[in-house]
Amino acid sequence: MTKKFYELTPDERLALLTIDDDVRAALSEQQSTVNAQLVENYISDFRVPIGVVRDLLINRQHYQVPMATEEPSVIAAANNGAKMLSAGIDVQIGRTAMIGQMMFVTEKSLADFVQAHRLEILDIARQARPSIYQRGGGLLDVVVRQVSENETSVDFIIDTQDAMGANIVDTILEAELPLFESFHPLGVILSNYATQQLVTATADIAFERVGGEHVARQIVALNHFAQSDPYRATTENKGLFNGASAVVLATGNDWRAVEASGHAYASRNGQYQALTTWSIKNNQLHGELTMPISVGTVGGAISVLPAAQNGLAILGHVNADELRMVIVSVGLAQNLAALKAIVSGGIQQGHMRMQYRALAMQVGAEVDEVKRLVPRLMAEKHVATELATKILMEIRNESKS
Ligand code: NDP
Repeated sequence: MTKKFYELTPDERLALLTIDDDVRAALSEQQSTVNAQLVENYISDFRVPIGVVRDLLINRQHYQVPMATEEPSVIAAANNGAKMLSAGIDVQIGRTAMIGQMMFVTEKSLADFVQAHRLEILDIARQARPSIYQRGGGLLDVVVRQVSENETSVDFIIDTQDAMGANIVDTILEAELPLFESFHPLGVILSNYATQQLVTATADIAFERVGGEHVARQIVALNHFAQSDPYRATTENKGLFNGASAVVLATGNDWRAVEASGHAYASRNGQYQALTTWSIKNNQLHGELTMPISVGTVGGAISVLPAAQNGLAILGHVNADELRMVIVSVGLAQNLAALKAIVSGGIQQGHMRMQYRALAMQVGAEVDEVKRLVPRLMAEKHVATELATKILMEIRNESKS
């Protein structure tokens, strides 16, 4: 009997794809047995560069932070931001928990039912996942939330300790379902809107650290713009996630979850706004960033992926709350660097250098040639592939003569 596609080995799958042999060989070379177990129809790995923020001072502790990103300039900007924040970032975090939803379309009130069965609900959760209680977590609270006239969410607030907790939450929710059977639940699933995992980073920065009072006031004005204009806010938050998501990815966490939650939180006032606020306080630049961060340091892919283990090792084997603190701090540093670059008119230049490095490699420049080609491209007014190729040929001819 012929095997189904998903039953084949990675190389057998590659053999069935319509691709050139050299592409097939390259993909085959990049396979890993661990990753083959993680996703379906696996054929190969997709490698992303990892860089590092050399020193980030959070709550008086120094961290070296791994960042996984394909985007040029992001890691340089994060380091630049960390330098501007070298007096230190203060991060505050409460007890974090995941929210699991049981959803109903019903006219009946669930509040009395939940109130009457509270002890039973807590007991079911404990029996469904005793190990999370042994670790100090478990179901903390059950909240009935009226979503509309006939739509109700029963929210289960669950402390999942150092795990991101999606599976833990879903296990508990499924165990609770039979108790609510007479209300005909629509279904159960965790919510990625992690409002029980809010983390706040604040920093006060002397004007000279950002290039003077004028620059500081420009940063405040630009940030204020992003509180009023969703077009600017989207870009400002994207810049923040350039840093935050790179740490999330480097530690094997789910960046889609963190970003979805962050963007939802950015809309909490009814309009999409910048997550960070910058102001002038006590004659200093004051930054504040609060965002929901749902991550773990164990479980899921994190415990399996060697790359995630390496990322956590760079950080110094932190727990989940420390990782949250690092992520929010990188977000603040990244945001500050971007705003400063924009008001100083410098973003394009730094960015272009990295883009030109990518272009140089694209047209076939070797490492030594990249170093010579990039400055010559920087001196040009209009750069395109054709021009980069032409200058590369000139460099090669110069080397010959
Ligand atoms: P796991 O199901 O792997 O559970 C955590 C594991 O870590 C358990 O085996 C637990 O052991 C172990 N563990 C060890 N130390 C600790 C500790 N200090 N704190 C907590 N647990 C510890 O992972 P999650 O529940 O975190 O689920 C994450 C996965 O779910 C991810 O892969 C995610 O992509 C996926 N997912 C995401 C969804 C979403 O975002 N919407 C939906 C569904 C799944 P023990 O059992 O002994 O306690």
